[in-house]
Amino acid sequence: MKKIENIIIAGGGTAGWMAAAALGKLLGKAVKITLIESDEIGTVGVGEATIPTMVFFHKLLEINEREFMRETNATFKLGIQFENWRQLNHKYLHAFGVTGKDCWAAGFQHFWLRGKELGIAEEFGHYCLERRAAEEHLFSHLPNNGLNYAFHLDASLYAKYLRKFSEGFGVRRVEGKISHVSTAESNGFIEAITLESGARLEADFFIDCTGFRALLMEQALHTGYEDWSHWLPCDSAIAVQTESTSAPVPYTRSIARTAGWQWRIPLQHRVGNGLVYCSQYLDDESAKKLLLNNIDGEPLNAPRVIKFRTGRRLKQWNKNCLAVGLSSGFLEPLESTSIHLIQQNIIRFLRMFPAGGVVQSDIDEFNRQAEFDIAHIRDFIILHYHVTERNDSEFWRYCRTMEVPESLRHRIQLFKETGRVFRDGNELFDDSWQQVMIGQGLMPKHHHPLVDTMSKEELQTFLQQISKNIDYTLAILSSHEEYVEHYCK
Ligand code: FAD
Repeated sequence: MKKIENIIIAGGGTAGWMAAAALGKLLGKAVKITLIESDEIGTVGVGEATIPTMVFFHKLLEINEREFMRETNATFKLGIQFENWRQLNHKYLHAFGVTGKDCWAAGFQHFWLRGKELGIAEEFGHYCLERRAAEEHLFSHLPNNGLNYAFHLDASLYAKYLRKFSEGFGVRRVEGKISHVSTAESNGFIEAITLESGARLEADFFIDCTGFRALLMEQALHTGYEDWSHWLPCDSAIAVQTESTSAPVPYTRSIARTAGWQWRIPLQHRVGNGLVYCSQYLDDESAKKLLLNNIDGEPLNAPRVIKFRTGRRLKQWNKNCLAVGLSSGFLEPLESTSIHLIQQNIIRFLRMFPAGGVVQSDIDEFNRQAEFDIAHIRDFIILHYHVTERNDSEFWRYCRTMEVPESLRHRIQLFKETGRVFRDGNELFDDSWQQVMIGQGLMPKHHHPLVDTMSKEELQTFLQQISKNIDYTLAILSSHEEYVEHYCK
């Protein structure tokens, strides 16, 4: 039981600097915090789409949103448009808001299903404010979180911004390449990090933010990895930035291709593009060509290939080391959840901060909660691949027919047979499940009998009222482009 007075964060990508910012802000006066990073190695250089929990993280840190957006060239994001996922030339938008209006006994989808049967309902997304605002390229801050939003941001500018923020709270940055991690013979705890320069840095606790290398968590502590690539077979990505050719839209585009999908993330000053693909069905050269043939605007850098293995580190907290970011595991970026998982681990750690020394019960509880978080997100991502009508390539045939985790199989079956969805405890996604299930073409066989107690006219009035309320709100929103420009000035 050693008191935690000295923490080293190894790695200065998004994960390292987010950890430094939060620890510095909360504990900077009580604990010595040092971050080691290597300019020579650099960062993964992607990770530019986020989800609304980032707004919450920034509130905890009291980050000034205007300043943050200005410094990172950020735009607002209201959801993700999925193109060609259900079938070629079909699209739907997974928006951050709630769709329609639930009744305590039955979710809105039941009312919508009946409305569809009677021919009086628009498509599902029509009853979601964020979805309609996204499609019409509108945005404004509304009182009481009236419009749920996240950001598209420049990852390297975000790390720079957080570095300045963290240093303001006493975080010390050390430049250098880590060459060795020493562990104690007695209990296997990490004792020190040695740099190529020969400098040896000791600490009581270590946060591994070294990216896919996982220098501390895996290479020193041999924590182990659970591979999920049989469910999420994409193992490669190519990223390239391009000049903007039009006003930034307030949503990410995810365009399914023959063996993966392409992203487009519009920032104020440029567009982030990339292709996530499965190397078993598409080689790197063909992937590069496919991406470059499908971008608007001149490339601003050479395309870069990134290899990964989907899965999770068996423990996120092991001995006196916490893994944050890519060192903790990786789910591909389809629902922009990695930065969310970074902040989850940071917030959870701060809530369980082992000031008096590391205890096993904290470690076990931390790992239990972290496993819950990532497994639910994994299922949600697999859903997009598995529930599809696409049959036009080996890749899609594999995804459509593969075995999925039992937890997901149950959810799909339940929705198909009864139209019911449930939120499992504190899992991240809620309304999103029905948006994506319906978007991908999964239609329930039955609706809740409660809906049948309404006459056709009553149901029509109910649906129209929701739609009208959305129209009123849309009328007071600004154009996204103008709003960003004005807000960031
Ligand atoms: P890195 O950025 O790799 O940083 C590692 C750090 O460790 C660097 O500072 C490096 O210099 C340092 N380091 C490594 N080895 C040493 C050494 N020997 N000595 C000293 N320092 C060292 N997430 C989202 O939320 N949204 C997205 O849209 C999204 N898109 C993605 C797209 C792709 C293709 C990929 C692969 C990931 C994406 N992610 C996304 C995930 C996101 O990029 C990461 O979660 C995020 O960038 C955090 O990375 P990191 O800081 O853990 O690692």
